[in-house]
Amino acid sequence: MARDYYGLLGVAKNATDQEIKRAYRKLARELHPDVNPDEVAQAKFKEVSAAYEVLSDAEKRRIVDMGGDPLESGGGAGYSGAGFGGLGDVFEAFFGGMSGTGATRKPRGRVQPGADSLLRTRLSLAECAVGVTKHLTVDTAILCDVCTGSGTNGNSKPVRCETCGGAGEVQSVQRSFLGQVLTSRPCPTCRGAGETIPDPCHKCGGDGRVRARREIAAPIPAGVANGMRVRLAAQGEVGPGGGHAGDLYVEIVEQPHDVFVRDGDDLHCTVRLPMVDAALGTTVVIDTILDGPTELTIQAGTQPGEISVLRGHGMPRLRSGARGDLLAHLDIVVPTKLDAKQTDLLRKYKGTRERERAEVMSAQSEHNSGLFARLRASFSGR
Ligand SMILES: [Zn+2]
Ligand SMILES: [Zn+2]
Repeated sequence: MARDYYGLLGVAKNATDQEIKRAYRKLARELHPDVNPDEVAQAKFKEVSAAYEVLSDAEKRRIVDMGGDPLESGGGAGYSGAGFGGLGDVFEAFFGGMSGTGATRKPRGRVQPGADSLLRTRLSLAECAVGVTKHLTVDTAILCDVCTGSGTNGNSKPVRCETCGGAGEVQSVQRSFLGQVLTSRPCPTCRGAGETIPDPCHKCGGDGRVRARREIAAPIPAGVANGMRVRLAAQGEVGPGGGHAGDLYVEIVEQPHDVFVRDGDDLHCTVRLPMVDAALGTTVVIDTILDGPTELTIQAGTQPGEISVLRGHGMPRLRSGARGDLLAHLDIVVPTKLDAKQTDLLRKYKGTRERERAEVMSAQSEHNSGLFARLRASFSGR
């Protein structure tokens, strides 16, 4: 049966190489026989080392992901078993990036991929709703147009680095609890490239790229929201030596709106209604974000705080035709300045509702006396 190599390292099935290495490093520090000589720890250390040997190897990891076990395939590339497994891996786990076998390593090269960049842009709610092309200015690294990335002047060529002999790294002896170990670090002269440029390009100084201010047209789709990032492939920085550009991410900073408050795809607004309209019912026209003035039907007898919903008049959903809703919170306005005639009319109206008023009042007083009775009972200990 296939062993659970991911479980042994305590990482998820989709863990990155970095996460796998980190998890192994941590366990190796705890379980290494020099640190932890007891038998259980040693057995565990062997298992953990085997798991790392498998998961750090793309081909072996692929076999695991297909349900197989690369260490059980009858001979061949079997786990070396007893001892420390790949000793180089242990060293690498402890000291990161070196393995004492520099000869097998290649210099990382002068040409490197460029970094991703992040830019923030303010958008109004309306721009988020319809989508917009934003013209942005970005300070970034672009390909040097004099040497087109080579970093050399005219027809001159890079030469092998004298400090590291072209290996890209230099080695030194370090002391540790494992005894003396050989460690490597990137060559300080060529910074790991393995070669230097004796006659560099006059414009970029050999870097193959220059700083520049660029104008970028960023297409922002309808339905974006605060904090979302739009990715523009290969619009980031050009890498050292003219390496291919990273990506540019444009992060949306949504500005608050005067009328609408956004909640996902839904919008909320407040509609003020005269008391009489709430009592009799009416139709009002309200503004919407995408559909202009739109009719909203108010039912007779509408109470303060009720919500009337306009389905499909909210924000568009990203990459779909669907729309959220517009929720109108109804605020009932009581008239303040009544003239003599209006006051008279309202008195007359009040006269027609005496019985109902009495019912409301008595229901209220019953409720209150019930409440007081319960309070009294609770104070007197019943
Ligand atoms: Zn060097
Ligand atoms: Zn140049």
